[in-house]
Amino acid sequence: MENLEANFEPRFAARTKRIQASTIREILKLTSQPGYISFAGGLPAADLFPIERIGEATQRILREQGVQALQYSTTEGHLPLREWIASRVPGATPENVQIVSGSQQGLDLIGKVLIDPGSRVLVEAPTYLGALSAFNPYEPEYVSVPMDDEGLELEALEAALQARPVKFMYVLPTFQNPSGRLMGLERRRAIVELARKYRTPILEDDAYAELYFDGKPLPTLYALDHALGGGNVIYLSTTSKTLAPGLRVAWVVGPRPLIQKITFAKQGADLHTPTLNQMLVYELVRDGAWYGEQIDKIRQTYQTRCHWMLQALQKYMPEDMGWIVPKGGMFFWLTAPAGLDSLELLKKAVEEKTAFVPGQPFFADGSGKNTLRLSYSSASHEQIEDGLQRLGRAIHRMLGR
Ligand code: PMP
Repeated sequence: MENLEANFEPRFAARTKRIQASTIREILKLTSQPGYISFAGGLPAADLFPIERIGEATQRILREQGVQALQYSTTEGHLPLREWIASRVPGATPENVQIVSGSQQGLDLIGKVLIDPGSRVLVEAPTYLGALSAFNPYEPEYVSVPMDDEGLELEALEAALQARPVKFMYVLPTFQNPSGRLMGLERRRAIVELARKYRTPILEDDAYAELYFDGKPLPTLYALDHALGGGNVIYLSTTSKTLAPGLRVAWVVGPRPLIQKITFAKQGADLHTPTLNQMLVYELVRDGAWYGEQIDKIRQTYQTRCHWMLQALQKYMPEDMGWIVPKGGMFFWLTAPAGLDSLELLKKAVEEKTAFVPGQPFFADGSGKNTLRLSYSSASHEQIEDGLQRLGRAIHRMLGR
């Protein structure tokens, strides 16, 4: 009998050519050892997880609704939670809401029901790497559109939409992962109008919606589209950045025929999102005063950490390094002088015992070699100070200064 393990490769489906281990992940494995200060992870701050509250709420649910919490349940999701979500999205009813096991599953299911091999999917340059990983197995052709400070460049976007039909466009208007950019109100309006003009649905990924440092949230693309008649935006958000990512509770809001198709696809994927977790999330968010305080705490913490990182960048980065100052979210996006390859820089940084994520994998068109992402969400003042000093040394070594 042939040893399958020794010769597994020919058995993989053709689509797995686009499911590959990343070299960056291999390099970053090192950096979880003691002594390293890594800004690569992008993990929500663990010191803000509401552990006690989750413990109490879980006990209460198990006492009062234990059987319901532990039994199989509907694929659509826990109705009170879907009602709560619908109440926060203009024009939505629970029939427009599908609960998913993390917005990452939402991306996969949307890819599954919308993307044929060769379908054109328009993405921002850069875009969320995890979305590319979710879509890749469905074999899309990406149309990468450049961004300026305000988000997608309108002329380039219209040219792309005009050139050939696009299946959908994937947009992260609020504190984009990786660039931290916040799309302005006028740009939001223009993009929603262009999408309607070219009859191209928008997939709006709003994972960082709540993480504003100051000011008032801008309307979502979903809300702006709703004001024009609706039906052209699919909205995705999550509890991962406000409660805890390990709960894996997120949602897709969209036109009913699409939501239904996603429900059928989810049946085949995991039947439903864990009921206990959905009930728990509902228990937590229904107390609006507590939930508001929880989000305020996260906002203040990230704002402080962001400020520390800005000060350290100003102190340790060379003058020709550029960055976007975040107004919320979890990331700094840096642009190095044109010749500097951030993958090479990562190797030098790891020698100095620090790390970040090179920017290139976030570009569907393979550009962005001189960009990098730093996360401040989980770092202390001391780590930021020491880590950026190390990164500064690595950069100066690379630039030969
Ligand atoms: N979208 C974006 C933009 C993200 O940054 C993330 C998490 N890194 C996700 C989706 C996935 O989040 P989750 O599956 O935890 O909801």
